[in-house]
This record gives sequence, structure tokens and C-alpha cells, in this order.
Amino acid sequence: MVSVERARYLMGTPCAVVVVHRDSAAALEAVTSALDEIDRLEDVMSSWREDSELARLNRSAAAGPVVCSTELAAVLDSGLVLARLTAGAFDPTVGPLVDAWDLRGQGRVPSVVEVAAALACVGWSGLDFDREARTVRFARPGMSVDLGGVGKGFALDRAAATLARLGSPSALINLGGELFALGERHTVTVAHPAARLTPVVELEVGDACVSTSGQSERGFSVRGVRYGHVIDPRTGRPVATAASVTVVCRSAARADALATALLVMGRERAAGFVRAHPEVGALWLEPAGSGVRAWNWNLSTVRAVPGAQVRWMERREWATHTLEKGNR
Ligand code: ADP
Ligand code: MG
Repeated sequence: MVSVERARYLMGTPCAVVVVHRDSAAALEAVTSALDEIDRLEDVMSSWREDSELARLNRSAAAGPVVCSTELAAVLDSGLVLARLTAGAFDPTVGPLVDAWDLRGQGRVPSVVEVAAALACVGWSGLDFDREARTVRFARPGMSVDLGGVGKGFALDRAAATLARLGSPSALINLGGELFALGERHTVTVAHPAARLTPVVELEVGDACVSTSGQSERGFSVRGVRYGHVIDPRTGRPVATAASVTVVCRSAARADALATALLVMGRERAAGFVRAHPEVGALWLEPAGSGVRAWNWNLSTVRAVPGAQVRWMERREWATHTLEKGNR
């Protein structure tokens, strides 16, 4: 068995793919194809590029129905499924709020009036999406779709499917800390919510995806107040939390969007959500000095990294299976 690794900068973050294979040429082909797939999807759904298919859709879908590519339709469909599943905690129409807070730029604090105006243009039920015809229309002018909370996961799922199709028995794709582990078990570390380079908890995953959302990594500060980039679609403001949440499940799009949504929900509601969804595991971390307080819901292979100060507040296994190890 040989192991081949390649990395590229994709979707605004480093992306590394490691494949273990019998044949090194086949492994290299698989790795390259997986990276190409993510590259291609970035052109479709980037919110950072003026020329992405999503940017074009945002410019014209208020005027009338716009036909999307199969990929854009598929990621919009996932976004809407997740919006429904999380009762709108995840909302792919947060675009006007992302703009109001200038989350794609330096960041700024909008006035109450600006937040209210943006909020009036947010709401996934205003996205008229026809799955069969692959058309999108905005019910109100000023709406825009932002796939920043699900796009990386969607791309990971597609990259993993590419690897599986090319016969990679074992692989790990890491897209900016969001992971897809194929085949054998991999040990994954989760960082302190306020110190991304300090691992505090580790878990083992196989045939599963891991995604973490928090407010410290990306965001901005104004007069000593820290604002993150996950927005509560009910208030129109970034969620005020120092916590991070890590989600483990079978689909990376789902892990990505659910991590965002659970952070919006807050600890109590997040626990309730995981309890009602045994196919999802989650780890909730809150900073406590240089260590953390940790809540583990449905994950059975989780432990503190040696030397890290982890105070377990709750360990709940509502699910009867061990989802991190790939048992179905
Ligand atoms: P990261 O991109 O760092 O992994 P997330 O997966 O949590 O972080 O996604 C945050 C991004 O998702 C934001 O930059 C924004 O584009 C978008 N977003 C913010 N709040 C929400 C929300 N409530 N629902 C859906 N998307 C959101
Ligand atoms: Mg996310």
C-alpha cells in the first residue's frame, strides 16, 4: 500500500487529500480528480467571486426564474433541506445580513435600521425553488443566497464520491479543518474554541465527516467586542458565543450546515436537536481558561488529548450505534 498526498488552496482555505492505495499512479489520479472536483464546484457556488454561477443567480433571481446547473440546484436543495430540518437556524438566504455586517470584507457593525432592512430580505421560505425545473426565483427584491455554511461540505461529499468511484479504499480529505474520512478509522483532533492551534479533544472516525463551527476563528472586533461570522437569522446579528460545536455524521454537507445551525441554536436547543437525530453526533466546547468544558452527545470514541484540561460536563449517548466508527 502506498500513501499519496496533495494539497491546493481551494474555497479560501488549504485543502489536503491523502489516499492509501495499492497503486501509486491510481492514487495520484484519485487525489488530483478529487481536488479538481472541489475546484470546479468553487466556480459554481462561491460567494466571494463576482463571476460564480451563484453570484450571477443573485444578480438576476429577483427579476424572474433563473435556471441553475445540476450542481447549484443540488447544493440549493441541500441548503433548503437543512433550513427545514433546523427550523431556520441554518438559512441559505442570510446573504443580505452577510453584506450588512460586511463579512466578506473587513467587517462592520450596521445600525439597527440597516439590520432590520436586511432581515426583511432574509428567509428561506422566500426562495422559490423548483427542483424538477431547476429554477430559482426570489420572492422579494434584495434577497440573496449565501452558501458559505454548506458549500464546503457539499464539495467534500462530491470529492469523496470521486475518490470512492476511483477505488480508493482509504482516504482523508481535509478542507480547512472540515474532514471526510473514508474507509479505515482516522484520529481527528478538535481545537480549543479560542485557540485553533491547541488541540484539546480527539475522536476517531471512519466513513464519516467532521465539521466545526465557532465564532473565534473568523470574524472581526470593533471597540473590543468580537463579532463572529455565524449569524442568527432571527435577530440578524452574529451569535454571541465563545463556544464551538463539532458535528460528526455521514454527509459532509449536513455536518457543515448542522455545525453552523447548532451554534445558532445554543447549547440547550442543540442538545435537544442531537437527541432527536441519532444519526448525528456532536461535541460542544466552551473555553474555561486554557482548558475547556465539554459536552458530548452521541459520540463514543471521544477523549481528551493527553495534557489538555477537559472538564466533561455531559456525556450522553442517545443513539444505540457508534456512528464515528462507520457502523451503519
Ligand atoms: P466556516 O465557513 O468557517 O467553516 P461555517 O460553516 O459555520 O464556518 O459557515 C459560516 C458561513 O456561513 C458564514 O461565513 C456565512 O457565509 C454563512 N452563514 C452565517 N450564518 C448562517 C446561518 N445562520 N445559516 C446559513 N449560513 C450562514
Ligand atoms: Mg458550517
